[in-house]
Amino acid sequence: MLAELWGLDYLSTGKQLRRELKAGSPLGKEAEPYLERGHYVPDELVLALALEWNKRAEDGWILDGFPRTLLQATELDVFLKNQKDSVRALLLEVPSSELQQRVAERRECTSCPWTGTRTQAKASGRCPLCGGELGQRQDDDLKNFRMRLRAFEELTSPVAEYYESSQRLLRVSGAGTPEDVFQRITAQFNLQ
Ligand code: AMP
Repeated sequence: MLAELWGLDYLSTGKQLRRELKAGSPLGKEAEPYLERGHYVPDELVLALALEWNKRAEDGWILDGFPRTLLQATELDVFLKNQKDSVRALLLEVPSSELQQRVAERRECTSCPWTGTRTQAKASGRCPLCGGELGQRQDDDLKNFRMRLRAFEELTSPVAEYYESSQRLLRVSGAGTPEDVFQRITAQFNLQ
């Protein structure tokens, strides 16, 4: 929604890794054991993916789910050189109980980028955008979710501190509907 509003290029590293996995590419094969267990994919693989994409991106972009470790954040800064000061990191804060519920409810279209909830999908049982088949993300089970949450707490919390210490962090509540969160984010950016 933000990329559309601001006309920016968009990359979700997680979504791209799942695409690579599905396509059976060399990157997908390397990432598979990590994705299956809910572990972070090694920095060198994700860095190569995100920075290569960034070279081709236009002036403005949104990276979703990246950087997730301190090394990824510092390498992104090295890559961006003096443009690094114009980067803002957005941390969406959601209680873990709500995250767990969202993961159980989440459905994705197997043909287009639609992501929503089981309840939204129920009316037709098909993707509301393209009519395609819906499925659950392969890593959206409870055990995997707990692993991902632990990885987030251990490895991604320091990334938030890193951006906070250079006044580049925006903390926004991620509670409520996507539209609620979208409005909160745009309001925060307007204050910048
Ligand atoms: P996401 O779709 O952002 O929830 O990411 C799904 C999974 O992809 C994560 O649980 C990680 O295994 C992997 N992944 C995505 N982005 C990164 C990243 N920046 N660093 C390491 N692993 C990542």
